[in-house]
This record gives sequence, C-alpha cells and structure tokens, in this order.
Amino acid sequence: MKTVSHPCYDAIVLGAGPAGSAAARQLALAGYSVLLIDRAAFPRDKVCGCTLNAHAVQMLHQLGLSDSLAQRARPASNLALCFRHRRVSLALHGSVTISRRELDSALANAAVAAGADFRCGCRARIISHASPDVELAESRGKRYRVRARLIIDARGLVGGGRRRIAPMPRFGAGALVDADLLAHRQEDVLLSVAEAGYAGIARLRDGRSVVAAALLPGAAGSVAGNIAALLAPAGVHREFVDAVSWQGTPAFASYAESLINGNTLAVGDAAAYVEPFTGEGIAWALESALAAAELVCDSLRKNQPSLLQQWPTVHSHLFRKRMRRCRWVAQSLRKTWLLSALAQTLPVSRLLMQKLVDEIS
Ligand SMILES: Cc1cc2nc3c(=O)[nH]c(=O)nc-3n(C[C@H](O)[C@H](O)[C@H](O)COP(=O)(O)OP(=O)(O)OC[C@H]3O[C@@H](n4cnc5c(N)ncnc54)[C@H](O)[C@@H]3O)c2cc1C
Repeated sequence: MKTVSHPCYDAIVLGAGPAGSAAARQLALAGYSVLLIDRAAFPRDKVCGCTLNAHAVQMLHQLGLSDSLAQRARPASNLALCFRHRRVSLALHGSVTISRRELDSALANAAVAAGADFRCGCRARIISHASPDVELAESRGKRYRVRARLIIDARGLVGGGRRRIAPMPRFGAGALVDADLLAHRQEDVLLSVAEAGYAGIARLRDGRSVVAAALLPGAAGSVAGNIAALLAPAGVHREFVDAVSWQGTPAFASYAESLINGNTLAVGDAAAYVEPFTGEGIAWALESALAAAELVCDSLRKNQPSLLQQWPTVHSHLFRKRMRRCRWVAQSLRKTWLLSALAQTLPVSRLLMQKLVDEIS
C-alpha cells in the first residue's frame, strides 16, 4: 500500500466525538493548523443515551453551538427512574436530548468552520508519540503518513494507549428506534435499573427514541433478553426489543495508564471513563477538551512542549472527585440488597435522589 507524506500540522486530533471536535475547534480558532480525523464516515450514529445535562448544554453555548442546538435538541425536564417495577419521577433542570448523529456532526462542522481540516472514514494509528507521526488508513486501502507538533488522542474507549480496566466492567448496547417509546408517559427520559445493569430510553425531537443500556458481561441471558427485562417496566414488549438491531461498545470503566505519552495527550473517554449511569460523559468530554486545548495553545505559543506534562495534574484536578462519585454510584447499583431497599423505599427516598440528580445536572 502506498504511503504518502503530508505537511506537518501543529496538532492532529484523533477522533471526532465531542472531545476531539471541541479541541480541534479551539486550536483552529487560536490560529493553529489542525487535522481532525475519524474512522467513521460522518454523519454517524453512536451508542449513547443522548441526554445532555445542563453543564454540557452550557459548554455547547460556549462553543457557539446554541443555534444548532436550539434547532435539533429537545428539552428534557422529567426523568422516570424504575427499580423492580416501582417508579419515581424526578425533575431535570436544563437537560436536553439530541441524537449523536446531529450533535457530533454539528461539533465537527464547528471545527471545520474554525479552520480545521477534517478527514472522516480514515482510521488513525499512532506511529510515534515523541516526534508525533500518525498513519491514516482510508477505507479504500490508501495509506498516508501525517506529522504534527503534538497529538490529541480523543478516540474514546479505544484510545489513550494501554488501558487499565476495572474488574467486571459493564459494556454498552444501544439502538435508535423509529417510534416514540415514551409516547404514553409524561417523562422525557426513562432509566430502569436491575442486577443485570441499567437501560434508558430518551425521546428525541424528531419523534424517534434512543435506547441505551449498560450490562454486566456475566449476566445470564442474551443482550436483547436483558434489555427486554430492564425495559419491561416502561411497557416495552420483548418482540419489539428482538426486532431492533443492537450496536455494542467495548467494556467501559477503563482509563489510560498514562494521560501523556511523548507529545500525545489523551482527552475525553480516551483519558478516563467511569460509567454512563450519572449521564456526565459528554459534559466531561467537552470540559476536558477545552482544558487540554488551553494547555496545548500555551505550549505551542511558547514553543515549550514540556508544558504538556502538566496535563495529568490538570485533568486530575478537574475530574478526580467527580469520577470517584460517579464510580461510587455505579458500583452501589450492583448491590442486590441496596436495589431491594431502594425498590421498597423508592417514593420515600425521592428527595435524596432528586438531590443527586440536581447535583449532577
Ligand atoms: C450506553 C451508553 C450511554 C451513554 N449515555 C450518555 C448520556 O446519555 N449522556 C452523556 O453525557 N453521556 C453518555 N454516555 C457517555 C458518552 O457517550 C461519552 O462519554 C462521550 O461520547 C465521550 O466523548 P469522546 O469524544 O471522548 O469519545 P467518543 O464520543 O467515543 O468519540 C470517539 C471517536 O473516535 C473515533 N475513533 C475511534 N478509533 C479511531 C481511530 N483509530 N481512528 C480515528 N478515529 C477513531 C470514533 O469513531 C469516535 O467518533 C453514554 C455512553 C454509553 C456507552
């Protein structure tokens, strides 16, 4: 296969999810030459609950995406939380739902509008971290080599180099459904929890629904069977779940062994990821991208690559406590006795749960 050499960019950003596109936009706006790459052909869908909390919405405003968000997102003001056929309704403040196809395309377009080059349908492989060198493989088999002063690795759960995976991590499954599964309910989002994991349904603006689940790999039964059991309290029938084609994700609850490797920084899920239960993933991805872009701009402006070494400290300062809390919540949901207690006391513990939701959103 042919290898073509391309000019040297200031930065190459691997992955055009929320973290990668937001970082690419910020660097391009600051006047640096940026190449943004994604292995998927855009626009693309992605396994996700598609619910943005108020923090994520606020950051999208900061990124100048208020207009596209207003056109594509649907306000979400109620969440139904189901435990073993019991249900409690909680208020969401400032949350919206939006498909990943629309959100990620809007973010990638914003990076291009700011001046970044974008290549999708191109798988990236880092050849050297120290004198950053990336190989791009197009789906048609053509290969390129691209160089840069630094790399931002935003390849999600498969990025970040060597990863440590927590014991018994959950994996994700999801699907877009051409129907409003919550049509007969007042809630905009439903989250159902059981021993096998948890599954959510979010109502999108165009009348479709997105279903996303986090399942324990050891759970008895098939993926569809477990999702059907989780969604039964929402009135979703088994035949319906069987008819959907489910997309999966790698195990989550993993983190990069090192957030900085040579001149390569890991951001978003590529740096560290806990569990989707508390719905903070996209907000954290955007926040880490903005923080990384600031550090990178400083390093490029002063021509001091050593400044990049501060990234693990900056990241830890921003996320360590919040990730610990999210991990604690997700791990607690595995305790059968706690689930039983919650099911018994669900209406009584409503205030406590509302407080948790208010803190997260
Ligand atoms: C089941 C489930 C439900 C979730 N629900 C929610 C929710 O409701 N709200 C929320 O805020 N968060 C949710 N999350 C979390 C959220 O999806 C992630 O935190 C967020 O997508 C992280 O963004 P990112 O940019 O870091 O990575 P990603 O969004 O994963 O983007 C990574 C990109 O890198 C690309 N890529 C990968 N490998 C390569 C390669 N070799 N070369 C080039 N490109 C590559 C991929 O194609 C992808 O586009 C959920 C996650 C799961 C699994």
